[in-house]
Amino acid sequence: MQTLTVDLGSRSYPIHIGAGLLHQPGLILPHLAQRRVAIVTNTTVAPLYLQTLTDSLALNDVEVVPIVLPDGEQYKTWETLNTIFDALLTHRCERKTTLIALGGGVIGDLTGFAAASYLRGVPFIQIPTTLLAQVDSSVGGKTGINHPLGKNMVGAFYQPQLVLADTDTLKTLPPRELSAGLAEVIKYGLIYDAAFFDWLEANIEKLRALDHDAIAHAIRRSCEVKAEVVAKDERESGLRALLNLGHTFGHAIESGMGYGNWQHGEAVAAGTVLAADVSRRMGLMSEAEVERVRILYRQAGLPDTAPDLGVEAYMQHMGLDKKVEGGRIRFVLLRGIGAAFVTAEVPQADLEAALTHYVQ
Ligand code: NAD
Ligand code: MG
Repeated sequence: MQTLTVDLGSRSYPIHIGAGLLHQPGLILPHLAQRRVAIVTNTTVAPLYLQTLTDSLALNDVEVVPIVLPDGEQYKTWETLNTIFDALLTHRCERKTTLIALGGGVIGDLTGFAAASYLRGVPFIQIPTTLLAQVDSSVGGKTGINHPLGKNMVGAFYQPQLVLADTDTLKTLPPRELSAGLAEVIKYGLIYDAAFFDWLEANIEKLRALDHDAIAHAIRRSCEVKAEVVAKDERESGLRALLNLGHTFGHAIESGMGYGNWQHGEAVAAGTVLAADVSRRMGLMSEAEVERVRILYRQAGLPDTAPDLGVEAYMQHMGLDKKVEGGRIRFVLLRGIGAAFVTAEVPQADLEAALTHYVQ
């Protein structure tokens, strides 16, 4: 097992990464204020892992209230949040009852927001079971739900007590979900750590085969990068924006193609290729580096070109993007592999050329 700490002063917390952690209640017990927890999960994850976790806690006299939600992004809503509150109140969960999120990013975001607001805040533990949740959504403290008018529009910054990333849970993950998580892993190399990108190029096959040491290293390094960025900029005033590499174009692809048709990770991969190409056109990145990015995405089972929505549609979808400040689109671009930066100064011609060139 490896452990790293997210350094946020009095709200610092550990992330444990390793195999078989669901069978180690000793990792959880020190973080409980009361021998009672509510485990929030969904109908896909519950049959796989709920019993294991419940049994290992019950053996240590921890009472478990299970809350099993329907599976899917379409349930990341106010209505579902309310069913969590219903269950917590019905079972008389108290201010010291810890909420445990057992599942992917949807469960983590919902449970975190429930924990932030139930009784004005109760303790919260993340047990992420998708690669995306292990490297991204469980770290950083963003929680929330979708609104019919926009994704992740209602929520809170709320840090967990502990994150447990059990790499064994990835064995049941569909390959497409694994690839979607790899898109965010590759992002960390691209924005911050060229040596990690090199390592990913050398180890991508092992990662897709879930080689334990490789996957644990990738999760660890990804969490380190995210934790470092978040520690320097918890509430997203500057540095944290780099984590959105590929996401401005990516969100345009997701909404332009109709939500759910492209995986978020797939859209981020294609969006990053566009960002890399814009960077190359601006003379910031070489053709060879753009090629390396595309090859790695292909090897990770991800797209390396974007869908042809048309320049107009792209511009329109990006204009609606949440990260727009004062009417100008801010892009995350690359000064080569491992060095991202934010700018609003992107020549329209370069943007349009990229949107015409790197599409299918
Ligand atoms: P998800 O939670 O929908 O999980 C993907 C699918 O895998 C689901 O069907 C889920 O039930 C299933 N699943 C989960 N674990 C499994 C396992 N071990 N074996 C088999 N199936 C399993 O999607 P996700 O990609 O984990 O997360 C996406 C969500 O995360 C989005 O709602 C996004 O907005 C959010 N997110 C949040 C942050 C943040 O900072 N809070 C960051 C990135 C993404
Ligand atoms: Mg993302």
